[in-house]
Amino acid sequence: MDTGVLQFTCIPGCTACCEQKGWVYVTESDVERAASFLALSKEEFEQRYVVRTRHRLRLRKPKDAQCHFLRQGGCSIHPVKPVQCRLFPFWPELVSDRGEWRKTGGYCPGIGQGPLIQIGTALETAQEMETAYPALYPGKEL
Ligand code: SF4
Repeated sequence: MDTGVLQFTCIPGCTACCEQKGWVYVTESDVERAASFLALSKEEFEQRYVVRTRHRLRLRKPKDAQCHFLRQGGCSIHPVKPVQCRLFPFWPELVSDRGEWRKTGGYCPGIGQGPLIQIGTALETAQEMETAYPALYPGKEL
């Protein structure tokens, strides 16, 4: 593969990224959109599904799964899913590091498939992560 490009397409029906261990961070606007999608108030949604710490908001995890909203074959809040879920695998730490990108391909079958994407375009897409979650990317605030 050309070093200036990445290759990716999301494979329909796959949920491998949702099943990985880790937190799903959310923005205030993710919370608002998901609450409204589920016909809940922002406060109700937050009480049920969100942990708020000083600098971060993240989804609570159910006891025996990675995410409350993951169903067989897909995300039950897909149209309003959090920024980090929507952008995956275009995260700064993955697109800027060839080894991490390759490692991610170990569980994401979409990596190495589909259209070629210029690295500059991938980095531009990944910047939305830094804007959405400044606490996760200290020193990168735009
Ligand atoms: S692991 Fe990759 S192919 Fe599977 S749902 Fe996530 S992004 Fe799509």
